[in-house]
Amino acid sequence: MRALVMKFGGTSVATSSHLRRVAKRIIQTRRRGLHPVVVVSARGDTTDRLLRVASQVAARPRGRELDVLLSTGEQEAMALLAMAIQDMGWDAVSLTGAQGGILTDENHTRARIISVRPDRIRAEIGAGRIPIVAGFQGVNGYQDITTLGRGGSDTTAVALAAALGLGLCEIYTDVEGVFTADPRVVPKAQLIPRISYHEMLELAGRGARVVHLRAVEIAKKYQVRIHVRSSFTEGEGTYIEEVGEVEKGRVVTGIAHEEKVAKVTITGVPDRPGVAATLFQALGQRGVVAGMIVQSAPRGGVNDITFTVAVDQSEEALEVTKEVAAELGAAGCFVEGDVARVSIVGAGMLGHPGVAGAMFGALGRAGINIQLISTSDISISCAVARSDLGRALEVLHRQFELEREA
Ligand code: ASP
Ligand code: MG
Repeated sequence: MRALVMKFGGTSVATSSHLRRVAKRIIQTRRRGLHPVVVVSARGDTTDRLLRVASQVAARPRGRELDVLLSTGEQEAMALLAMAIQDMGWDAVSLTGAQGGILTDENHTRARIISVRPDRIRAEIGAGRIPIVAGFQGVNGYQDITTLGRGGSDTTAVALAAALGLGLCEIYTDVEGVFTADPRVVPKAQLIPRISYHEMLELAGRGARVVHLRAVEIAKKYQVRIHVRSSFTEGEGTYIEEVGEVEKGRVVTGIAHEEKVAKVTITGVPDRPGVAATLFQALGQRGVVAGMIVQSAPRGGVNDITFTVAVDQSEEALEVTKEVAAELGAAGCFVEGDVARVSIVGAGMLGHPGVAGAMFGALGRAGINIQLISTSDISISCAVARSDLGRALEVLHRQFELEREA
């Protein structure tokens, strides 16, 4: 019997009745003649709640202990889901990440999967049991529990599908699929029926939260199609896959945004080799992830460097930048916390001139000031004031005709 990886997100298993509904859906799949391999996230806001408790007992809890704590969220969910399935007369078995063969590196709270050995899962399938695997967690070379970073259950699911040699992975979530923009902010956003790995990577990397970035990377590498769909409805959802000809029909496929961005600026930096390296290596060592990076043209032997970070990293970023500023003899540094980033993404913009002009034009006509710009081959991002974000999304969505059916 062919296997099918089905991943259920936290909202899909939030309450007892949700759990039972998911159990039914898994059994339906089994009845259709596919053997489900289930991956589950922690229920509802469990992970947030555990993080909050940790921060109440310790100012800086260590990663190792955080991982032990956070992994319990998925373990609760897997046990309950297995019980619900058993109660409906089918055989299921809950497995931790370690039992599922998810081996990771040693980076606590943001570990990367280095290999998957799904022997136990295969054995359970062979014995006719439905494996329910805890998402988001693995085990490192010291047998310590690790977690894969927020939203990491998607990555568990895709990695398992790849290791089992499957070409498809279903991700059940609380939205209908991938949209042209976040439908909670842009009501006219449309479902995208098919999107390429490349475009989805850009969208996920620029703030779209539907699928974990690393999951898409693994899917692309091992050619696993991801089917994102709602666990509450029977909609068609979105296929993330290799898309060839069809993508040429559109210039911009979707818009991603990041709402809580801060801008850190270091001024009067000496214009000589190695300066940017000093700054960004120091940031990297402290785990600060810089988004957009912009350096001004030199004037009088000095220039300014501005970069963006998530707001919750802005204090750390400023601290590091101050240290580096002192070391380099820079004039000063400061942070602005009220920024947002909006990015248009589309494989169709490759070799299609005028997209940047159209984007800036739409923002300009709406009176929205662009603070920073950065580009990749298939995306353009602008930092704007956070108060302008909603309107920026709206005018760009209209400008690139994302409202009509894709
Ligand atoms: N429970 C984890 C989180 O909330 C992992 C996941 O949901 O995928 O981030
Ligand atoms: Mg979650």
